[in-house]
Amino acid sequence: MTEKIGAAVIGAGVVGLACARALALRGIETVVLEANAAIGMETSSRNSEVIHAGIYYPAGSLKARLCVAGKSMLYDYCAAQHVAHRRCGKLLVATTPAQEEGLAALRRKAEANGVLDLQPLGIAQLKALEPELRASAALLSPSTGIVDSHGLMLALLGEAEAHGAALALKSPLLRAEANDGGFLLEVGGAEPMRLQAGLLINSAGLHAARVAATIDGLDVRHVPRLHLARGHYFSLAGKAPFSRLIYPLPEPGGLGVHITLDLGGQARFGPDVEWVDTIDYAVDPRRAEVFYGEVRKYWPDLPDGALQPAYSGIRPKLAGPGERQADFLVQSHATHGLPGLINLFGIESPGLTACLALAEHACGELGL
Ligand SMILES: Cc1cc2nc3c(=O)[nH]c(=O)nc-3n(C[C@H](O)[C@H](O)[C@H](O)COP(=O)(O)OP(=O)(O)OC[C@H]3O[C@@H](n4cnc5c(N)ncnc54)[C@H](O)[C@@H]3O)c2cc1C
Repeated sequence: MTEKIGAAVIGAGVVGLACARALALRGIETVVLEANAAIGMETSSRNSEVIHAGIYYPAGSLKARLCVAGKSMLYDYCAAQHVAHRRCGKLLVATTPAQEEGLAALRRKAEANGVLDLQPLGIAQLKALEPELRASAALLSPSTGIVDSHGLMLALLGEAEAHGAALALKSPLLRAEANDGGFLLEVGGAEPMRLQAGLLINSAGLHAARVAATIDGLDVRHVPRLHLARGHYFSLAGKAPFSRLIYPLPEPGGLGVHITLDLGGQARFGPDVEWVDTIDYAVDPRRAEVFYGEVRKYWPDLPDGALQPAYSGIRPKLAGPGERQADFLVQSHATHGLPGLINLFGIESPGLTACLALAEHACGELGL
């Protein structure tokens, strides 16, 4: 028997759950299909948990617009739903005078994105804020913060369910077929089922291209290649001497090995960038050598032996090594010609920050 539903969302990461909530709030009967045994087991729980201000992205890009809009939405949401978060601020540091132009360029970029609150700091101001930090100049971003990503996902799921959405775990989408009523979905797992959904949002993260390739009716030219860029984290044994996040200037593929804090004040370092061919979350302890070098550029007193291998996450990138950074790709009817289908490709950072805005954008593309 085929059950009829209003919408199916593929993937219970933070973006899929935000989409499910947005659909459910609009009164659409929504089912979230998740391949794993629990929500948020992939990229949504393998990141820095930073609420980004919107500094780095080209003006007018989806990343810029949805990060800046998503940041305010997320702060409001966390406050209203009691999701743990802290607007702790972040320091962007130039470690040599030669890098100071890089800071100025970032400030201009941020201003073009509507982030107008960055404050340039000189050495004396920096010393007063973070005495252990060594930098020749810095920018303070007061609107950057941290969030409990799992708490956020639970809140999104709870609200979606309260508005009639259902979550099916261990339920991988095997294939879909576009038809007159939307999409016929074949779902595997322990209890295989068939669903007929009017709307389909593919928010399968690292697997989004593979999921799209199984949609019968979607022209293969609309299925991009995703490149995988793993980022490793090391945690700090002992207490961090910083109360703000510390970021060096960005590097190709990532934001540079930075220091983030979790809500308990524990520090972690990362992520770096390693291009990989398969999804494998191993952290090679030998990478610590590079981390010591990078971190000591701005924290010279990092003690030997302080870094412990922690975890890694993988960015689903639309651009490969050496290519120009790509924007989020929210692919709708206007591109692929299938009414009711949204494919979300390349939802790397700042996807956590932008999740609520991405969900609104996806709904807008569906005409909702
Ligand atoms: C190293 C790193 C650091 C980051 N740091 C930050 C940060 O500090 N701030 C920020 O804003 N963003 C950050 N991000 C980005 C952010 O984590 C992601 O944009 C966000 O988590 C993406 O969520 P998602 O729901 O799209 O994907 P995911 O969390 O990957 O969820 C996709 C889900 O789809 C499921 N799935 C896949 N295939 C199927 C199928 N066939 N059937 C059913 N389910 C399926 C998967 O099991 C998974 O649960 C970072 C990312 C990385 C990798």
